[in-house]
Amino acid sequence: VPRVFSGMQPTSDSLHLGNYLGALRQWVAVQEDHDAFYCVVDLHAITVEVDPRVLRERTRRTAAQYLAAGVDPARSVVFVQSHAPEHAQLAWVLGCLTGFGEASRMTQFKDKSARGGAERSSVGLFTYPVLQAADILLYDADLVPVGEDQRQHLELTRDLAQRFNSRFGRTFVVPQAYILGGTAKIMDLQEPTAKMSKSAASPAGLVDLLDDPKVVAKRIRSAVTDTERDIRFDPEAKPGVSNLLGILAAFTGTTPQAAAEGYAGRGYGDLKADVADAVLAELQPFQERFTALLADPAELDRLLAAGAARAREVSAATLARVHDRVGFLPAA
Ligand code: ATP
Ligand code: MG
Repeated sequence: VPRVFSGMQPTSDSLHLGNYLGALRQWVAVQEDHDAFYCVVDLHAITVEVDPRVLRERTRRTAAQYLAAGVDPARSVVFVQSHAPEHAQLAWVLGCLTGFGEASRMTQFKDKSARGGAERSSVGLFTYPVLQAADILLYDADLVPVGEDQRQHLELTRDLAQRFNSRFGRTFVVPQAYILGGTAKIMDLQEPTAKMSKSAASPAGLVDLLDDPKVVAKRIRSAVTDTERDIRFDPEAKPGVSNLLGILAAFTGTTPQAAAEGYAGRGYGDLKADVADAVLAELQPFQERFTALLADPAELDRLLAAGAARAREVSAATLARVHDRVGFLPAA
């Protein structure tokens, strides 16, 4: 059975529509015919400063959102990254195979460090893609369902797997990115040329999965469009309208082009109302499931502990293989 690995950072109280359409929905679909490992990547979340209490709460909330979206813990392994120490251990080994120049070319670091200045960014933010490669390679993942923004990191992961294999002998599966056209890059509603992001400067452009329905409707109603009046799918000329059509299409099971038909003679207001209805139809039951899951944190923690035990059966074996290959002396 082919393996799948993916993760999200607990960097916000709620995931957003981009996380959901770009990744989480695919996670639920592929678990049917793959061995799936879905991780809450808390090690990645401390690459930027965060309050410890907030991090702990967000880690539980992120896991609960995986489950509320339909990730089935009986089928898929759901766990927290810091519970499997092999992630950090493998990252060290891979970091020693990564060129400084190679790491410097990663655009996510450039984007994220641009805000406070690279000089003041953490070394952890710089080596983030190496840790991500370790996450994936530990589980011999064949497939990694992620959004478009992760394409470059997946390329690095493949390069590192191939480099290790050619230097030390075949050790890692070389994984493939699973990036779905159409929903792989959901744009910020206020700035439709930038991706929707948990760490966006302003929440006005986000639709969070756990937002109050009134807030969801308001955010969509206030989405930036353009000064024309026609509704067509044209991401270059009409990024705002096209983003809304992409969201509508994703929730109604059609293409953005097809979704645009039927709006002849109607305005942006009608489109936005339809987008809000389609989004809320799926979010409201999601929110109910989330609330029920979060009401029992002890059960959630038990589930994550069981997930970590299953994850470590795989990650410990991979790490032992790696340590042997690079020439570390056995501990016992
Ligand atoms: P942060 O701003 O903290 O990096 P994020 O919103 O980028 O948060 P991540 O936890 O980094 O979220 O990414 C989780 C998953 O969601 C990844 O697979 C990523 O590719 C995907 N993703 C993030 N933003 C979008 C988006 N706007 N459209 C589609 N997929 C996205
Ligand atoms: Mg991100």
